[in-house]
Amino acid sequence: MTAAFPSGTILGYPRIGRRRELKRAVEQFWAGTIDEAALEATTSDLRRATRERLAALGLGRTDSSIPESFSYYDQVLDAALAVGALPARFATLRAEDGSIPLEAYFTAARGAGEAGPLEMTKWFDTNYHYLVPEIGPETEFALSSDRLIRQVAEAKADGFTVRPVVVGPVTLLALAKPTEDAPAGFRPLDRLEDLLPVYRELVAALRAAGAEWVQLDEHALVSESLDVDAATLAAAAERAYAELGAAEDRPAILVAAGYGPLSAEGWRVLAAAPVEALAIDLHRGAVPARVRGLETKTVVGGVIDGRNIWRGDLAGAADRLEDLQAIGAATIAVGTSTSLQHVPHDATEESALDPRLVSWLAFADQKVEQVVTLARGRAEGRAAIADELAAATAAWADRAGAPGVRDGGVRSRAARLTAEDADRGDLAVREQAQETLGLPVLPTTTIGSFPQTGEIRRARAQHGRGELSTSAYEGFLREEISRVVTLQEDLGLDVLVHGEAERNDMVQYFAENLDGFAVTQHGWVQSYGSRATRPSILWGDVSRPAPITVEWARFAQSLSDKHVKGMLTGPVTILAWSFVRDDQPLAETADQVALALRDEIADLEAAGIRIIQVDEPALRELLPLRIADQPEYLAWSVRSFRIATAGAAAATQVHTHLCYSEFGVVIEAIAALDADVTSIEAARSRGEVISDVAASGFAAGIGPGVYDIHSPRVPAVAEIEALLRRAADELPLRQIWVNPDCGLKTRGYDETVTSLRNLVEASRNVRESV
Ligand code: GLN
Ligand code: ZN
Repeated sequence: MTAAFPSGTILGYPRIGRRRELKRAVEQFWAGTIDEAALEATTSDLRRATRERLAALGLGRTDSSIPESFSYYDQVLDAALAVGALPARFATLRAEDGSIPLEAYFTAARGAGEAGPLEMTKWFDTNYHYLVPEIGPETEFALSSDRLIRQVAEAKADGFTVRPVVVGPVTLLALAKPTEDAPAGFRPLDRLEDLLPVYRELVAALRAAGAEWVQLDEHALVSESLDVDAATLAAAAERAYAELGAAEDRPAILVAAGYGPLSAEGWRVLAAAPVEALAIDLHRGAVPARVRGLETKTVVGGVIDGRNIWRGDLAGAADRLEDLQAIGAATIAVGTSTSLQHVPHDATEESALDPRLVSWLAFADQKVEQVVTLARGRAEGRAAIADELAAATAAWADRAGAPGVRDGGVRSRAARLTAEDADRGDLAVREQAQETLGLPVLPTTTIGSFPQTGEIRRARAQHGRGELSTSAYEGFLREEISRVVTLQEDLGLDVLVHGEAERNDMVQYFAENLDGFAVTQHGWVQSYGSRATRPSILWGDVSRPAPITVEWARFAQSLSDKHVKGMLTGPVTILAWSFVRDDQPLAETADQVALALRDEIADLEAAGIRIIQVDEPALRELLPLRIADQPEYLAWSVRSFRIATAGAAAATQVHTHLCYSEFGVVIEAIAALDADVTSIEAARSRGEVISDVAASGFAAGIGPGVYDIHSPRVPAVAEIEALLRRAADELPLRQIWVNPDCGLKTRGYDETVTSLRNLVEASRNVRESV
């Protein structure tokens, strides 16, 4: 009765389009320059192109191996709104029949006026961000969107039987947060029973539209990926799949759990559940133990890494699939460890990259080909794919021996590092040495970037295309820096910045100027909604051929008697926002980046820069999901920051900046960075973070952000004063700095100038009164 599961598949495919067509269409729709019908037409073309592409790469048109994983904005939002979980503040946007139109969908994602958007947070340990559903006792679940159903029908009309992908009920609830009105102790998971009938209805409708298989993503069952304990999640999964599996009018069900090893409880429960297939991450997880219930099921071995861009060890992947036989499943299929939404579309489009580097890469399309190859090997025997396996092995070997991958000088320098190289000495001694900086109490500063105006972006683009000469571009940047320095002097800020106008992106700018990195042309990946980033590729040993920021810093400092901060991106953030080589531990790569930054800091000092900020906004982001893996990560990440900064003289003030306020497990690590001053995001939590900082015994300078730069709202003087007084109640005054939450690059000048004026005034008022 059920169709067999295909021999190979991917758990999802990038949806932004090879040329970011989705971004453009969605943003035009938001701007009102195209209507919904035009948006629908563009996205329909995009979905069609994706299906055709996947079929051309070897996935079957009618065997359910092509996933339908398109989303206008986010897959979690899709699922939440499909089951009717639209927060009450958007209720008026529902259609008369109760369904949730596209406009309401986008409004929930982006907010409107007083009604703030759904909160956004990291999708497991990736750089993708999803929207957090809000679910309370009052949430009325009902099938409220037929978008996915229409997409299945649309594919069917084109002759494709696709496999729709939906975030599963357990994961949807586990990722949700309680609505504001929910009583204390309420958990969204408490609503599982009420939610299941709607999922039943949804999968039945997908079946009716032509789906033979549905994929329910239950990544919450991956061990320690969330705060909820594994046993609770497994019990919820047991209940959910007993219910969904019992339906008669349903398609066959694939439950997918990626982003790490499935918890033991989850594995046991899913194996016994009345579903037809399970997908597990074999890139990050080991082959699990044999358990009862698998005899009748397909297990999809996710041997192809869905999250990095390396061609990898294909023969090793084939071996792991063979090992997977031991679990005793009815059939083994080939898959990816996660959706491919985390990698760019196609490495063969990178015509500006060294073809040798390209031969080591696998973006989404190449990963599909790898899946197809491995599936053929399983069907026809390993000899049938011997050439492909040998080619992948040869590429791997070529990469290992290629010039630049291993640089003797870089390696021996890293090998000589000692504990002393990571130690700046006593904080009190440094504090005293830094008194010569002559800073007032409650010093005011900003995080680094000033608004990146259209003019700046245009000049950079013109320079990139060769339409603006380097000397003209540099002249433009000098003018921009002068303007920003003068503005800060007029505003009365104490520690100035140069504004970062020369930087397209805080990581790519360094990647472009360090050896060991490559920058792609089309390697975009979705970060959230219509936002995409283009991570650099860290492929070789990292070194600094020449100073990077020094001339700009020297120029900026020459314009003012006040201190201008040197501004660098830290090693952990450079790694977190790049695609990083997978042939050595991250810790080794981080040390190499740290040494390059250490040299940059020495050169900044030699150029007369007395205050240097090393941003680490991603320190929290790379933290492993599994608690057991966290200490090792924190040890090397902190060490790399210290290697980068510990060469600085005691009299040089080292700052760092972190972009989140949930200190939690990283609070000790932040102290261990041993920066002289740390600025952190704090405005959205109304400065609550200060209590945590005080409680932790943090002894160095701390700048809790006094206003949220994510919004154009201008903070009033009194409001900033209140935050500062609150901080002053908890911490000695000499520790407190006054700054915004983050860089100003996405803001406009109007609100920036007023906000900073208020910030300076608030600081002066508090200074005089305490
Ligand atoms: N110095 C950077 C800026 O101001 C920091 C950015 C960040 O924290 N994400 O833009
Ligand atoms: Zn920040």
